[in-house]
Amino acid sequence: MAHSDPSAELDYDRRPLGSMTVEFAISARYELCVDCDTCRVIRPVNLLALAVAGRDKQEIRTLKFRCHKCGARGVPRLSGWEDGGRTSYS
Ligand SMILES: [Zn+2]
Repeated sequence: MAHSDPSAELDYDRRPLGSMTVEFAISARYELCVDCDTCRVIRPVNLLALAVAGRDKQEIRTLKFRCHKCGARGVPRLSGWEDGGRTSYS
């Protein structure tokens, strides 16, 4: 595609998760989901619940998420709106 049509750009702009903490993700109003490749399920995770559990200063990439169904390690994906576009971190 030669030129970009904003309405066609629903693809996420993907960025590395880096050292993003739970606290930061909440302040930036991001949404956290965990992907299970085995079940092909994406499950939303409550960031506030993580903070309440004392993990507010923890880096999201260091949190261990397990799939409720198969027990496999899930992949955290954070997404939010930035400058009018959808951005995803994983
Ligand atoms: Zn699973």
